[in-house]
Amino acid sequence: MHKVKGVVVKAKNEPATVETILVPDPGPGEALVDVLTCGVCQTDLHYKVGGVSDDFPFLLGHEAAGVVSAVGEGVTEVEVGDHVILNWRAVCGECRACRKGEPWYCFATHNATQKMTLEDGTELEPALGIGAFAEKTWWPRASAPASKHRSRMISTPPWACWAAA
Ligand SMILES: [Zn+2]
Ligand SMILES: [Zn+2]
Repeated sequence: MHKVKGVVVKAKNEPATVETILVPDPGPGEALVDVLTCGVCQTDLHYKVGGVSDDFPFLLGHEAAGVVSAVGEGVTEVEVGDHVILNWRAVCGECRACRKGEPWYCFATHNATQKMTLEDGTELEPALGIGAFAEKTWWPRASAPASKHRSRMISTPPWACWAAA
């Protein structure tokens, strides 16, 4: 378990605040990342005002890059020290849409399954499945070759969600 700082919105339209959050060690198929950089995006504002869902509290941030600090069981795509980007829509590479060459319709995108929490145990809902306005977050397994390639590129987020939508 890791105790780090993260930017959280606890309720609709409340200010985003820096909170202490708890991040478990990575489970099977997951890796933990020390976040180096994270873009600020209008989608984070949409989360804050309740425009995405009402699943507060949200851990904001979803366009990030960092360095792998720990890997869970069965992870072969990345190792400790790898620079990775955090793909908020990491495609599976195996479903019908991916095999048809249309990964933007992927039915089984990867997200971390474990929950980060506030210190009182309240589960956080990570923005777009990432939650990267935090010192540590997840790199969910992304076994598709394209994702592996992308994950090793650079330490600055090369895209934004509005550009991919
Ligand atoms: Zn797929
Ligand atoms: Zn975005």
